Amino acid sequence: MERTLVLIKPDALQRGLVGEMVTRLERKGLKIAAAKMFSFEDKVLEEHYAHLKDKPFFPRIREFMKSTPLLAMVLEGKDAVEVVRRLAGPTNGREAPAGTIRGDYAVSIQCNLVHASDSKEAAEKEVARFFKPAEIFNWEAVLMDNYYANEEKG
Ligand code: ADP
Repeated sequence: MERTLVLIKPDALQRGLVGEMVTRLERKGLKIAAAKMFSFEDKVLEEHYAHLKDKPFFPRIREFMKSTPLLAMVLEGKDAVEVVRRLAGPTNGREAPAGTIRGDYAVSIQCNLVHASDSKEAAEKEVARFFKPAEIFNWEAVLMDNYYANEEKG
């Protein structure tokens, strides 16, 4: 099964929406393989948002992402990267369709509650950026037959 990285951002912590975010992802059928709180340090933040480093709004992202600790999670499931991106919705909360996390809870392009890896390659790098192998758990979800047909597993 595929793994993806999710960060629950400072606006979710400030607004008391962490449980709501986790519930949405969990109810979809994604398995929590790892979870922990952490605070961004500049070096990791610059690595994580390297594609935005030269944007004029980067200092604001830095300030925002360092304003509280975050909850980092590794979620597992078939096509987990794409599934979580679709659940999160487009970056701009005002444009995100209702039914998505950002569409239902965000009105901002910056304060959009969650980060989700955008490709399998990014997911592998991002999981390794935030978690040591020993922090990721391989546990058996005993109700798997209720989530996937046999041919979808593996
Ligand atoms: P996504 O998080 O949807 O993958 P990006 O990788 O483009 O989007 O951007 C990373 C994060 O930077 C966004 O989730 C958002 O918090 C912030 N961001 C992106 N674009 C802007 C912008 N124009 N102004 C302020 N913040 C932005």
